Amino acid sequence: MRNFPAPIHNATAALGRLPGVGPKTALRYTFALLRLPKYELDNLAATIVGLKNVQTCSVCFAFTEKPVCEICADSSRTGDMLCVVSESRDIATIEATHAYRGKYFVLGGVLNPIDGATPDTLRCHELVARLTLHPEIVEVILAFSPDVHGETTILYLGKQLGSLNRKTTRLARGLPMGADIEYADEVTLASAFTGRSNTQ
Ligand SMILES: [Zn+2]
Repeated sequence: MRNFPAPIHNATAALGRLPGVGPKTALRYTFALLRLPKYELDNLAATIVGLKNVQTCSVCFAFTEKPVCEICADSSRTGDMLCVVSESRDIATIEATHAYRGKYFVLGGVLNPIDGATPDTLRCHELVARLTLHPEIVEVILAFSPDVHGETTILYLGKQLGSLNRKTTRLARGLPMGADIEYADEVTLASAFTGRSNTQ
C-alpha cells in the first residue's frame, strides 16, 4: 500500500480482514468512510463495539444477547426435532420460511479439512451430547447447503448419529447444487424443508 497516514493504513488493514474484501476494496471502503461526517464515524464505531455484547447460546450455540436464546427458551416450540445448521445466520433464513417449529443446533461450519474444519473443530461432540441428553429428540434434520462440503458433513454426521437411534433427515433437493442456503428464497427453502428425506 502507498504511504498513507497511519489511520488510513490501519483502517484499510482492518477492513481487509473481512471475507471477500481485498486490499483495493478495503482502501475504497476506507475512503468512503473518510467522506462521512464525524458523528457517523462515531455511530459506526459504537455499533461495532456493540457486537461485543453478542454471545453464543449455551444450548444451541446461536448468536444471542442472553445466555439462552429466544428459540431455545420458547416452550411452545416442539422438542422432538432438532435442525442442525452450519452457521447461526442460517437459523434466521429458515425461520423466515415458517416451515419449521422445532429447535436448532449450530455446528459452527461444515467439514472442510483443507481449510482446517475437522470434526474436532466443529461442534460434533456437543451435538452428540445434546442428543444423548435429550432422548425426546426423535428426528435430526441436517440442514446444510447442498455443495461438496455440506454433502460430506451430512454423510459424516449421518454415520456418527446412526448409533443414537434417531431418524436423520436432510433437506430435499429443492435447492440447486452449489447453492448457499443463506441466499435461498423462502419458497425454495420451504419446499426443501417439506420434502426433506432420510440421509441413508
Ligand atoms: Zn439457543
